[in-house]
Amino acid sequence: MTHNDINELVRQDKAVRVGPDVFYISKHELLTIKKAVKYTCARPRKRDWLQIAARPLVAKKLVSLIDELGVESGCEEWGRQNRDAEREAGLLSDDTLLMGNDGEPVRAGDIDKPKAERLRVLPEMVECDCGHECGAAMVMSASMGTACPDCYDMMSD
Ligand SMILES: [Zn+2]
Repeated sequence: MTHNDINELVRQDKAVRVGPDVFYISKHELLTIKKAVKYTCARPRKRDWLQIAARPLVAKKLVSLIDELGVESGCEEWGRQNRDAEREAGLLSDDTLLMGNDGEPVRAGDIDKPKAERLRVLPEMVECDCGHECGAAMVMSASMGTACPDCYDMMSD
């Protein structure tokens, strides 16, 4: 697609620009990603869907899985495929802590198990630059230092 084609799509309201780098995605894809983030994040924020939308291959795979399987199963399948890829790349082991849908930390090896069968993980608490303590997996890196999820926007320029 040429730059002019894309501009024409944006003009016709069929594509939108997202992210700090100019990246174009169809409206349908954007809405589907927003739906997925709403479903998967305890506290969805704009940067959550921007992060996905800014990785075109990852984003398009998520959208096609949701189109095929629905939001719930599509998100689960997408998560599973991403974890498999990270496992193969050596970036993930069973003991890696991930964030579960409920916002609680969960071992990667347990994420597909029902909650009652998971090994209990106590979040390692860390003090952030915003002055609050939060679980290590929830610490966010903002431009003014580390922040808990509630203070991220305030700690970002
Ligand atoms: Zn805070």
